Amino acid sequence: MHTRRATLAMPIETSAVCPQAVSELELTGLRNLLRRAADAANASNAFAPADATDPRWRSALVPYGPVPAADYFRSVAGAIVPAAAPVASPLCLAHMSSLVPDVLGPIAELVAVLNQNMVKRDASGVFTLLERQTLAALHRLVYGAPDEFYDTHVQSERSTLGIVTSGGTASNLTALWIARNRALGPDGGFHGVEREGLAAALAHYGCTRAVIVGSTLLHYSFDKAASVLGLGSDACVKVPVDAKRHIDLEALRRALEECRRRRECVIAVVGIAGATDCGAVDTLDRMADCAGDFGVQFHVDAAWGGPLLFSKRYASKLQGIERADSVTFDGHKQVHLPVGTGFLLLRDPSAAAVIEKTARYMLQEESGDLGRRSLEGSRPATALLMHAALHLIGQSGFERLVDESVARARYLAREIERRDEFELLAAPETNIVLYRFLPPGLTRAARATLTMSDQAAIDELNERLQREEAGLAGARVSRTLVDYQSADGCAPVTALRAVLGNPKTTERDILTVLDEQRAIGERLAARIV
Ligand SMILES: *Cc1c(COP(=O)(O)O)cnc(C)c1O
Repeated sequence: MHTRRATLAMPIETSAVCPQAVSELELTGLRNLLRRAADAANASNAFAPADATDPRWRSALVPYGPVPAADYFRSVAGAIVPAAAPVASPLCLAHMSSLVPDVLGPIAELVAVLNQNMVKRDASGVFTLLERQTLAALHRLVYGAPDEFYDTHVQSERSTLGIVTSGGTASNLTALWIARNRALGPDGGFHGVEREGLAAALAHYGCTRAVIVGSTLLHYSFDKAASVLGLGSDACVKVPVDAKRHIDLEALRRALEECRRRRECVIAVVGIAGATDCGAVDTLDRMADCAGDFGVQFHVDAAWGGPLLFSKRYASKLQGIERADSVTFDGHKQVHLPVGTGFLLLRDPSAAAVIEKTARYMLQEESGDLGRRSLEGSRPATALLMHAALHLIGQSGFERLVDESVARARYLAREIERRDEFELLAAPETNIVLYRFLPPGLTRAARATLTMSDQAAIDELNERLQREEAGLAGARVSRTLVDYQSADGCAPVTALRAVLGNPKTTERDILTVLDEQRAIGERLAARIV
């Protein structure tokens, strides 16, 4: 009986996992269907907003029988893809992840179908070597150590030049995990914070608490890291920025002195190379001096700005990054890789030993298994995507992407300054522009006399403008807050935030966005008045 049922099931069991037969020809057709839908979605100026009350998104049933592949793919192409956020549209200036080059599509598919697992050498074959090699290339970009250094460390199982992660958040967390364990390491009979925990570590070292110090523009992943590492998110000490939105170095020194006075253990000083908010780059060299003077570790968050290192013109903005103990570098921002590709680079190849773990059933000591020294367990071979981008685009290609992106930001800033109905709130240091729409009739002279209650009305206008535009065509820009000196005090105002990361965005596209915003802004202002 049992055998008979199995035999009856045979004809549809054409694949071990998916019970339907899809020929290679059909698969090509289905793949093209999705690709065409995605291209159309990115090219289109119409946008189907996601509606949480639509019954199509409310069923929680798993279909009992398989849905025919052709039907399923048609529904994805017809109903899901057109309602995706058009992040690769040249008119979309809202996000940090934008266009993925077509040529990386097959590489991303290869990563998925080879399904290598980087946790373990046995499950990743040559990809362990490829990942180490790719990390060495990025390490060299950041630290520029001599050839012999890379020759020694690139494939040495004892050395960790970096760690591949799922993104900047995981890289920053890993960096601070390492920094915490180094700052509060084993000492005499104390086995270190990694084994004994934070309370024992603070007691042993006679500290009142452990903190991370950076500017008010720190990415919120540092609050998460402080919390996960047991420090509490209040332990993320935020120092004010100066007029250029760089960390105020005098205030940093004072903060570090204050920590010393209060017997607080500073786990790391964090510099920002490309603030998420506005693209500003801290004066890393001076921060490294300061961290050195206090004997504190130095981490740099270059998730956004790291690729400036490819540019002869702008690399000097990051001077001092080579003195950082660790550097966060995102693939899915300015390297144009698919979301999910982060990197952490470590100046000292032995630094990651302080987080090393083994598992008897799997990770072997001295095995070269990459999972021994990373936060994440099973990990995809995304290093291949970085490897592919570095080869297919090359240093000169990235240099052009960076230089053109900065040029586009400057163009937008100039166009804003030429128009009375817009106000530039922060000149772009790199490629993010902060500005706002002003109600018609507000002359430049009148701007100087704005009160805080005027500001509140302008804030509301800009918030509505950004929301309305996003509802019509998908977000064009995002929003943030910027400190502003009004006639009766200083307080944050709402800013429109444009990220000029998409290489397909032309000057014409930039003007289109400004014209569209002016039209929406004038209409909203007329309604308010
Ligand atoms: C985007 C970003 C992060 C977080 O990276 P994810 O990849 O989103 O986790 C951290 N820091 C900076 C400066 C960023 O721009």
